[in-house]
Amino acid sequence: MRPKVVAGNWKMHMDLESGTQLVRDLLGQLTDIKKSRVVFCPPFPLLYPVGELLKDSEFGLGAQNLFWEEKGAFTGEVSASMLKSVGCQYVIIGHSERRKYFGETDETVNRKIHRALTEGLTPIVCVGETLVEREAGKTHEVVQRQVEGAFQGLSAEAVQNLIIAYEPVWAIGTGKNATPEQAVEVHQLIRQILNQKYGEGIGENVTIQYGGSVNEKNAESLLGQPDIDGALVGGASLKADRFAAIVRIGEQYS
Ligand code: PEP
Repeated sequence: MRPKVVAGNWKMHMDLESGTQLVRDLLGQLTDIKKSRVVFCPPFPLLYPVGELLKDSEFGLGAQNLFWEEKGAFTGEVSASMLKSVGCQYVIIGHSERRKYFGETDETVNRKIHRALTEGLTPIVCVGETLVEREAGKTHEVVQRQVEGAFQGLSAEAVQNLIIAYEPVWAIGTGKNATPEQAVEVHQLIRQILNQKYGEGIGENVTIQYGGSVNEKNAESLLGQPDIDGALVGGASLKADRFAAIVRIGEQYS
């Protein structure tokens, strides 16, 4: 069984005081997590202070984005090695909000994944269809295009070392999660795509999270599915009790 990975994507929320307090509260509450993996993804300015708090714990630190170039005159951008230097092990790449508001494409996602892997960061690669695409029966086509585009030029070994987050866009921040059946169907599709591209069994080795309005009430039905290897949690990761409850459910099914 793949251990569950529960990651909290804080998006553009929290400041130094509230963010570090949230992590302190969670460290106090989650002393019994042994089998699953928990990752905190705060905004850039909070990475270092949160990383300092997590130093002696088993919890991981992730960024929400990076730039694909190594360094240079790219005002406002952040490199993979900078993220490494402040203690990051993970980085979210291709979140639908970045695709929608910041012009990310499958090609830029691909470049970012290559850079992250070169620097030893684990990408959490987000894919997922919009409501219009789902209603037009294009979910499989869209997810296949995103996965194939994102993974151009990656070896089977590299793919097995990253995390995919299936995040239907219509479920993000809407309070309307995908049903376990809908999520499992797409997770299985992603595994099939990887098996076809890289060889039988590769898809089964990849961690695939579900993201989209995961909360303490629906987490059990989602994380209880063997094909759902964890959750990428937005809104519910901003409250210690809610996030802790989701993490505990992940632990129970790991
Ligand atoms: C996300 O930020 O990736 C997300 C899934 O958000 P929410 O849980 O709020 O829907």
